[in-house]
Amino acid sequence: MNLEIPQTNPRANYLSRKIEIDQAIAKVMDSGWYILGREVAAFEQEFAAYNDVRSAVGVASGTDAIQLSLRACGVGPGDYVLTVPHTAVATAAAISMVGANPIFVDIDRDVFTMDPNYLEDAISKFAGYPIKAVVPVHIYGHPCDISAIVEIAKRHSLFVVEDCAQSHGASWNGKKTGSFGHMAAFSFYPTKNLGALGDGGMVVTGDREFAERVRLLREYGWEQRYVSKIKGVNSRLDELQAAVLRIKLRYLDVDNDHRRRLAGLYQSFLAGSKLELPQTKDSAVHVFHQYVIRSSERDALRAFLRSKGTETLIHYPIPVHKQPAYTGCLNGGEGLSRSEEAAGKILSLPMYPELTESQVQTVAMQILSFIDHQ
Ligand SMILES: *Cc1c(COP(=O)(O)O)cnc(C)c1O
Repeated sequence: MNLEIPQTNPRANYLSRKIEIDQAIAKVMDSGWYILGREVAAFEQEFAAYNDVRSAVGVASGTDAIQLSLRACGVGPGDYVLTVPHTAVATAAAISMVGANPIFVDIDRDVFTMDPNYLEDAISKFAGYPIKAVVPVHIYGHPCDISAIVEIAKRHSLFVVEDCAQSHGASWNGKKTGSFGHMAAFSFYPTKNLGALGDGGMVVTGDREFAERVRLLREYGWEQRYVSKIKGVNSRLDELQAAVLRIKLRYLDVDNDHRRRLAGLYQSFLAGSKLELPQTKDSAVHVFHQYVIRSSERDALRAFLRSKGTETLIHYPIPVHKQPAYTGCLNGGEGLSRSEEAAGKILSLPMYPELTESQVQTVAMQILSFIDHQ
């Protein structure tokens, strides 16, 4: 069934800039150069400038951006990496890809991001293990308390790789997410705040050497063509995606402003209901990748909205430590109750830049009528 109001709508985002995007695509097609060329180089520069970091390196996906960042920091087989269980499984997949093991740290109940107190606890509790890095996630577009996390990591000589897959344009204490850690990873999956028409990712870093290492890693470790200095992989951003992303980057702030406006509308319509609405910390500029409410009647509410033509999603229904592939992890079972509680109650309402204010009102009224009938 095609619902009237989808939860996300990457096609609408393409259509709203179709003329410019189609021209940019035609130009690449005509150029005869399709992998790692001028569009990628230009986009890397523009994206680094946008995020106030020295270097950006285009790669094939957000998962690869995390994975290659970890490798560039020297994280490898047998090492341990601290992250949250309340995230896309991709975060943990990237840790596994380098042969390392995740240690899960519970979240702040209010904003769903890594709780720095629990990070400290985990570092003491697992002090006997070779912990090398922290991968905090700026989930739903709300920055984690990255200043506190960086400070703790520094004291324990851990690398910080920020997972910015959901936080393009967000900031903390006036600084962009992605500019705090040693490295940061972005995804351009089509539904992200900055989305390609296919897969894509980016590593950003303030450190030239780290950037250089990722540049080698993404293409067979080539220092120059056909000469591999280190053992690398194939994880390249292609010219078509870079050309599309350059167009869309120009509209990212406008799109994020609109997401914030829609979130404000949801907030005003739903205030006073017994639902828990998203919170924003004082230090944060939230970019509302998702607008996530909490309800103890979540499943019934979801079915009701569906019957009215409104699609919702759950990001994410199973915390990573409960996924079959990850149940064997070091701290699989204990101390992660906030993440587990969140997974049972969260609901992502429709949220994308082309959603209209009247559609938000429609969804909000449907939710209020569900609550009235309870
Ligand atoms: C989307 C996402 C990723 C992975 O990005 P891909 O481009 O799909 O590989 C990683 N972490 C988080 C939090 C994400 O939302």
